[in-house]
Amino acid sequence: MSPTDRTENSSYIATRPIGDATIIVVSDGELLWAPQFPAPEAMLRQAMPEADASNRVWLGLNVVLIGLGDARIVIDPALDDPGTTFECHFIGTSSMEIRRSPGLGAALEEIGWVPTEVTHVVITHPHGDHYAGVMVERDGELAIRFPNARHFLGRADWEGNLQRQARNTELNRRLGAVDRGGLLELVGGEREISPGVHLVPAPGETPGHMVVRIQSAGEELYVFGDLFHHRCEVEHLHWAPAHANASQLEITRRKLFGRLAQSGAVAVAAHEPFPGWGRITGTGDRFHWEPA
Ligand SMILES: [Zn+2]
Repeated sequence: MSPTDRTENSSYIATRPIGDATIIVVSDGELLWAPQFPAPEAMLRQAMPEADASNRVWLGLNVVLIGLGDARIVIDPALDDPGTTFECHFIGTSSMEIRRSPGLGAALEEIGWVPTEVTHVVITHPHGDHYAGVMVERDGELAIRFPNARHFLGRADWEGNLQRQARNTELNRRLGAVDRGGLLELVGGEREISPGVHLVPAPGETPGHMVVRIQSAGEELYVFGDLFHHRCEVEHLHWAPAHANASQLEITRRKLFGRLAQSGAVAVAAHEPFPGWGRITGTGDRFHWEPA
């Protein structure tokens, strides 16, 4: 495809076609993150030259929308809209600083997507910066944002998830509400949710973490979720946050990066700077992320 096919509709919405599919990335904002990678200071500095004096980096927060045939698919609806109780709670309890965009609700209005017409919602993994937007807050009350959509989540991220045992967690208030509404579908293996759209298990960040593969008219795109958080993890396959299973993540990365380096498929990374399009290049053990 030629780079001219890409459109940045506004400062926080970007579109590109993949075959007959329209892929829209919406920035939900940015997170200031302090990664704790197992490496000496000098190596970290080299890997993240943009980091501040405390080794913190601004991560993107990219939501992906896919229009293909009759399907309207939302992948990782991020943090709920700016100014909500979720955002206040997230800021209060996490060490991360946040910069918000106008948010997903404003983006959907701008591009003309009606929430009731969304057919599928995919949660790559149940971390708050990926799932909170499944609900929308109106006058302090939560409602399911996409009430006619099947919501997909990795089975291993739901069954046995300790946060479900405490009733007052955001997981219960949000994904729990989707489940109680009969809209949550748990996925245990590779699964085609709509023609050309596959969920592919990619464990490591969480046990049930999934990536999404879109194939249309001979073109292919992957939505990576948190397969990596910062592009330096593509070069250092064992670098991972403390909450991840680093050895499992390394196996998953090696497999998927090898496949993508060969196919040349475009990918969207959740936390690369907006719009987060890129390609994996390299061979063997040495891979790189090239913005594309
Ligand atoms: Zn994330």
